[in-house]
Amino acid sequence: MLRFASLGSGSGGNCLVAATGDTRVMIDCGLNLRDTERRLERLGLAPSQVCAILVTHEHGDHAGGVFDFAAAHSTRVYLTHGTLAALQAEGKAIEGVRVNLIRGREAFAVDSLAVTPFTVPHDAREPVQYVVSDGAAKLGVLTDIGTSTAHVQEVLSGLEALVLECNYDRDMLWSGAYPKWLKERIGGPFGHLDNRDSERLLGALDRSRLRHVIAAHLSQQNNRPELARAALARAMGCSDDWIGLATQDEGFSWRDC
Ligand SMILES: [Zn+2]
Ligand SMILES: [Zn+2]
Repeated sequence: MLRFASLGSGSGGNCLVAATGDTRVMIDCGLNLRDTERRLERLGLAPSQVCAILVTHEHGDHAGGVFDFAAAHSTRVYLTHGTLAALQAEGKAIEGVRVNLIRGREAFAVDSLAVTPFTVPHDAREPVQYVVSDGAAKLGVLTDIGTSTAHVQEVLSGLEALVLECNYDRDMLWSGAYPKWLKERIGGPFGHLDNRDSERLLGALDRSRLRHVIAAHLSQQNNRPELARAALARAMGCSDDWIGLATQDEGFSWRDC
C-alpha cells in the first residue's frame, strides 16, 4: 500500500512523505531540523524511519533542511548534479552525507519504492519533480514549474494520486504588493503555476484512476485555498471539498492510495 502525507507546503518550506511498507522517503525538506522532526512525530514517524530524501531543486523552501536532516539521521540524499552543484556553491552541502546523483527520466529504486524523476521548466540549476510507486499505485508531485509541457502531461497521466501546485491567483498577484520584477518571475515561464494553469494541466491529464488530488504550494499573499480548490474541482468535475489542501503549517495527514 502506497501512503503519503505532507509536513508542510508553501514558500515557507515543503516536505512530503511517501511510504510503502518499511520504506519511507521524504520528497524535499525545506523546513529546519527541529521543525521537520516535530512534524514527523505528528505523523507517527521517528526521523530514523525515513531512509532517503528525494530533492527537487536547490531553492531554500525545498532544500533548506536536506543536509542538516541527512547529517543528523544518516539519511541518503537523491538529487541531480545541478542541484548538488548549486547547494555546494551556497555552502549548504555537508561532507559525509551519502549522496546519490540522479538524472531526469532515469528511474531508480529506493528499497521497495520505484521513483521516476522528470524534468520541469523552473528557474533552478537542474530541477526535477517525482512520480513514486509501490508497483500498484502511483503518486505524482508537481510544484515549482513555470509552464506545463507535453512531457510533464505524459508522466502525470494515469496516476492514483497527484499533489499539484496552485501557487497564485493571477489577479491577486498582479494587483498585490510584490515588486514588478518578482511578479514577472513568479508569473513567467520558469516561475510557478497559477490556479488556471493548474486547472488546465489537470484537465489535460488522463484522470481515470485519480483518487486523490491535492492543491499545494499556495502563496499566502497571492492565493486563497477556496480559489485553488475551485479551479482543480472544475477540472475534475467534482465538488470543491473533494480536493485536498496542503497547508504551510499542517501539510496534510496520511492518505492511502
Ligand atoms: Zn518552492
Ligand atoms: Zn523553486
